Amino acid sequence: MNRTIMMCFWLLLPAIARTSFDTPTRPPLKTPLHTIVIDPGHGGFDPGTHGLFSKEKNVTLAISLKLGKAIKEAFPDIKIVYTRTTDIMPGNASDIHEGLRYRAELANKSKGDLFICIHANSNGRPPGSYEERHLTGHKWVGRGRKKRKVAVYSYKWIKNTTTGAAVYIWKADRSGSKGQMISEENMGDTTAMDMDSPEARIRAQLYEKKYFANSALFGTYVSNEFVKSGRRSQGLQQRAVGIWVLEATGMPSVLIETGYLTNKEEEKYLNSRAGQNKVVQNIVTALKRYSASLEDKRP
Ligand SMILES: [Zn+2]
Repeated sequence: MNRTIMMCFWLLLPAIARTSFDTPTRPPLKTPLHTIVIDPGHGGFDPGTHGLFSKEKNVTLAISLKLGKAIKEAFPDIKIVYTRTTDIMPGNASDIHEGLRYRAELANKSKGDLFICIHANSNGRPPGSYEERHLTGHKWVGRGRKKRKVAVYSYKWIKNTTTGAAVYIWKADRSGSKGQMISEENMGDTTAMDMDSPEARIRAQLYEKKYFANSALFGTYVSNEFVKSGRRSQGLQQRAVGIWVLEATGMPSVLIETGYLTNKEEEKYLNSRAGQNKVVQNIVTALKRYSASLEDKRP
């Protein structure tokens, strides 16, 4: 065996092992989840943030499509709905707000059981590294009446080191607005109900609580999986502003910041096949745990 063939053999070995042992013995997982809506952040005219060589809208789309495929492999019965599968603003909307509305309406119309928003982060500083100016003192320049005092600066290259994933959920306890998005359809009841009646409002509030608890549960699992695979994670965060799309979906919903494009290494990771697969694997493992805990709670 020459060296090239030998190399090919070693590279293919895991694949051979997988096809011959894993696949036939792995039964499809059962789940109470029917539909999952995956929302790749930004798109089209809205690139989101950017790193040294990549744009957020492309990174979120690549991860989202892989995520949908991986969920389908683990749970063949789950229907995946994407808010976009190409580089467009969802619904071909002409502005960001219209695009957000389209995302939420699609999720609600699809009667999703879970809404997953995929994003990549920025710490607001230039990607990679940047020059920072520090005031070190003053000096006098010019002569006579033109003499003036000027600042003296030193310049330093700073590496952009902020890294890590974060998971956001809508802060439900602050406002009842999510309750308004919970229609009788989302509550899984075919009986027509007057949504303005006190009974309906109470039921909507109960569902809002349940959705909040489930969002928090799934979000915590996702964050834990990031940590387990050696990533830095800011944990589960609650936000009451700026994540309108989570508020507007009548189902458990999370927004996953997969990492910082403004950090050189993390940008490479999020654009690499290995990095994207790892992020996807983390979310799918969390979904398996989430699905199993829903199964346990069923009467
Ligand atoms: Zn974003």
